[in-house]
Amino acid sequence: MRTGSIPEDVIQSVLEKTDIVELIGRTVSLARSGRGYLGLCPFHSEKTPSFNVLPEKRIFHCFGCGAGGNAIRFLMKSEGLSFPEAIRALAETTGVAYDFAPAPSEMTEEQREALRFIAANEEAAKFFHFVLGGTEQGQAGYEYLKRRGFSQKLIDEFEIGFAPPLRDSLLQFLQTKGFPPPVAERAGLIAARNDSTDYFDRFRDRVMFPIWDAAGKIVAFNGRAVGDAQPKYLHSPETTLFQKSKVLYPLHLAKASIRKQRQAVLFEGMVDVIKAREAGVENGVATLGTALTETHLAMLRRYCDSILVCYDGDRAGQAAAHKTVLLCEKAGMKCEVALLPEGKDPDEYIAAFGPDAFLANVIRNPVSSTKYKILYLKKEHTLQDDGGKLSFVRSALRIVAALESPTEREHYVKELAGETQYAFETLKQEMNEIRQKVRGQGDKNEIPWNTDMNEKGSSAPAVPALRPAYYSAERQLLAAMMYSEDAAKLVQEKLGGEFHVEAHAAIAAYLYAYYAAGREPNPSGFVGTLHDDALEALASSILLSVPQDAINEKVLEDCLTEVRKHDLELKLKQKQQQLARAERAEEFAAAAQIGIEIITLERELKQLGQRI
Ligand SMILES: [Zn+2]
Repeated sequence: MRTGSIPEDVIQSVLEKTDIVELIGRTVSLARSGRGYLGLCPFHSEKTPSFNVLPEKRIFHCFGCGAGGNAIRFLMKSEGLSFPEAIRALAETTGVAYDFAPAPSEMTEEQREALRFIAANEEAAKFFHFVLGGTEQGQAGYEYLKRRGFSQKLIDEFEIGFAPPLRDSLLQFLQTKGFPPPVAERAGLIAARNDSTDYFDRFRDRVMFPIWDAAGKIVAFNGRAVGDAQPKYLHSPETTLFQKSKVLYPLHLAKASIRKQRQAVLFEGMVDVIKAREAGVENGVATLGTALTETHLAMLRRYCDSILVCYDGDRAGQAAAHKTVLLCEKAGMKCEVALLPEGKDPDEYIAAFGPDAFLANVIRNPVSSTKYKILYLKKEHTLQDDGGKLSFVRSALRIVAALESPTEREHYVKELAGETQYAFETLKQEMNEIRQKVRGQGDKNEIPWNTDMNEKGSSAPAVPALRPAYYSAERQLLAAMMYSEDAAKLVQEKLGGEFHVEAHAAIAAYLYAYYAAGREPNPSGFVGTLHDDALEALASSILLSVPQDAINEKVLEDCLTEVRKHDLELKLKQKQQQLARAERAEEFAAAAQIGIEIITLERELKQLGQRI
């Protein structure tokens, strides 16, 4: 939290050790392009990529909005961190050791207050822990914890305590430690009645769980009523140090393991996470009575790229798991779901079947996010009647159709066929039609641009479309123009003289002139007006090989697209040569610009490819 004076060598070594492509790649899909990487800019909305990452120079730059800088700047912009916070986050990931604690003389008033809050919370934790273990009043808390299966080891490791059922015991204790009531109140530990100075303990007759920030400082408490007091669970109020949407419990203990396993296990409750940790799940974290947010995911993304969701087996838990799966997918994180029997939460499962069964059957036996979404869908449908079955299959196929991997799609279609007794071929065809439709609607961000680009022709169209090469496409266009004035007008408007074969362009020019003179379509009559042996022969051969009934609107469209496609291919080739020249000349700015043009051309090409 230091505002200035982090030594230059610390900053440099953090930047040197950070893999900027890996860092940015966690949030932006990057595709290799020349010496760098290209992607869609996360800082402005765009459809063609202009966001460049140059690993050699350790920088990023967006030609669209001008955003740019090093890894520190990227974290500041993408996660809303301050300069020191961003360095600190990177130092943590890269293992650069540095004590970020500011010298008192350099602290702002806000920072001094934050330190006082933490100190007050740490003292309160000691007080609660002592009351639980060493006083008669703590007995009620002890019995509660024993009933819930907490060992002494867990109680100590998680510094669990007890707030006595007294009006102002913590208040008095904190005063003796040098924390006057107004400070303790701002820290969320005590409350005041009606804005007055009538202070009293906020937590009474509750088992107390300290809540740490990612650095391991106590910033808040969760208090659980042992009696009938309401609310059953009481959190510290939100302060500058404690915001529920930014806390994962207990990230400071779990982060090393999360980084090592590149996966975090998400639980719904603090008790679940504690019990799972005891069972051997060291990379588990829980949100504090709130749904998982994008902020939580951004925090986890610093340590891992994969999430395992382990929520309660009841309806509410499964609905929350479903939302989390969707959120992870949106954030581009891999996600799996560990399933619990109906009506059991992780804590209850471990108590009933033991830690080994929990690890083997739940944690190490997850289903993919796709499988989970289908299972979730199934619960919402009655499969006994045909209508319900059909509606389930259709919705499930929509999920499967969005998958990029053909192997995965086939796998799930087979599963659905087995489950529903519909024929595999029928389901496959229906799924392909859904894919066609989705693609026909244009880029709805369901398929990331770069995977789309890399996976050429993976989706076989349900109905094979005509795929003429540009040469035969041009011949078909000329035939159509000879047969119909409307076709000639359309081609003139769309293509003009842009035929790739010179002789074709010549015949087209004659045709435009022919109709412009007000003449009626008459193929053989037209051929007679050419007065050039070679062109006449060509026009005739075209008329012979392309019968009139082979032409319709769809064929015309396809042919026009094919010709345009060849146009783009030529331009692309030209650009690729330019790129190679620019790179040889080490003109990197120019090379990056050409790289963008290449991506745009490739994208246009791909889109054309999908239309025919
Ligand atoms: Zn931008």
